Amino acid sequence: MVRAAARFSDTGRRKMRRKIVGIIVGLWAVAGLGHVNSAKSDAPSATGAPSSIEPLVRVVDLEIGQQAEVELADGSKALVRLLNVTEHRDPIRQAIRKTEVQVEINGQPATLSAGLYHLPIQVGGVQVDCAVTAGYNVNNLRRDYGLEADARLRLWPAESPWLRPGTFRYPVNQRWFASLTWADIEPIDGGSSISNQVAYHNGWDIGGVEGMVQVVAATDALVVSSGLDVLKEHAEDTPVQPRYDVVYLLDNRGWYYRYSHFQTIDPQIVAGQVVKQGDRLGVLGKEGASGGWSHLHFHISCRQPSGQWGLQNAGAFLHEAYRQQYQPLVLACARPQQLIAAGDTVTLDGRNSWSDCGKIAEYHWTFTDGTTARGPRVQNTYDQPGRYSEILRVTDSHGNIDYDFAIVQVIDPQRPDRYAPSLHAAYAPTFDIRPGDPVTFQVRASRISEGDEIWDFGDGSPTVTTRSDGNLKPLAPDGYASVVHHYERAGHYLVHVHRQDASGAIAHARLHVRVQQE
Ligand SMILES: [Zn+2]
Repeated sequence: MVRAAARFSDTGRRKMRRKIVGIIVGLWAVAGLGHVNSAKSDAPSATGAPSSIEPLVRVVDLEIGQQAEVELADGSKALVRLLNVTEHRDPIRQAIRKTEVQVEINGQPATLSAGLYHLPIQVGGVQVDCAVTAGYNVNNLRRDYGLEADARLRLWPAESPWLRPGTFRYPVNQRWFASLTWADIEPIDGGSSISNQVAYHNGWDIGGVEGMVQVVAATDALVVSSGLDVLKEHAEDTPVQPRYDVVYLLDNRGWYYRYSHFQTIDPQIVAGQVVKQGDRLGVLGKEGASGGWSHLHFHISCRQPSGQWGLQNAGAFLHEAYRQQYQPLVLACARPQQLIAAGDTVTLDGRNSWSDCGKIAEYHWTFTDGTTARGPRVQNTYDQPGRYSEILRVTDSHGNIDYDFAIVQVIDPQRPDRYAPSLHAAYAPTFDIRPGDPVTFQVRASRISEGDEIWDFGDGSPTVTTRSDGNLKPLAPDGYASVVHHYERAGHYLVHVHRQDASGAIAHARLHVRVQQE
């Protein structure tokens, strides 16, 4: 049986109250007043920079039924109308999992999905995405969007890059999707117990091996804070919230960047310092409020059309920067993570995969039970609680392949307050691995105190067991278990690690390792 996700429209409930205001704002909107911005803040630009950078993105917050004329970065104009917003919530936490945002741009209708792993699409001669919708302001522990309307749209000219070329780079020296991620506004299904208070992720998390991944500045920037050391003039009326493991940078767009969970911040990174794009900031770790898993938290804030500070979704910018730096041919995407109860059916979706030649020729799925399926969207039913990692292989029309993994967390319906046991796995290095090179694999279990992790490196070698600490103390320095493996031949390897708890629930994690020719 498929259990349909409950559908709510939080926005609909406020519709009447806002109707009159909406009409007035709508008129102003057509006149081009006060509600569109270029995502440029009124904060000072980074010192030492010759001039400020005008962002290419234009941001508009709209009520349902409202229309605005938006002047794009190239001076052209787009007539943008928000027709409707539908937010789909899961039956377990009532967290928003999917949105359908109906828009009309220059007379052409289209449906967008907010945030997550969705990239901008072409509609009516412009590029557009939806950053967030009003339902994310409800039951949200963080709520830092600065959104006071029904939806936030971002627009670019049809042929425009999303950021000015050369002004932004991928902030870790690591392969795309080498480990676990959380995307912009992805609901975080983790922690001690399942709650209806949802923390939608505010920014972008990039998992990696603790202590082995360099974190670099994404942009030329001013160091506003490093640990608890903060520039006085940026301490108030800014998004800056210093912490011992956090660095804030301010770039020449007037955007603030939060980098969190450093294992170590480099000593030269001090408040007031000017850094260049690519300069090393420190080493990736799991310090601060990381939940005990090793990752970089990367979060952009800027002034939003409401006048408040708010999240500037980073996903599209990271994707573009990674492609410019590394020229991948295919990037598979089977994310975001999903949460269901045992007995339920889930739809896995590979359509956010990207191909340089524009066309994905084949989507092939391999499930944990050994069955397979083909197609961009497939369904699977789970009878046993656990955390599954399902394999997506995408092939472009030239035969190039990439893999990603769809995480499906299946809870026990008898224990609706309890998450399934989980594993975080990562490896390093992720680039330029040659036959015989040592590769470090790391894993940490959460919500499991029994058993061992069992590793299969995907090359026919015997399995290896490790025992991580179960994440009872998130900041424990030796929380991860590590193992070093050597591959003898070039190729794509799918690594599988799993651990079983006392109830029989199994946590699975997978990694994709590429070994190059010698
Ligand atoms: Zn985070």
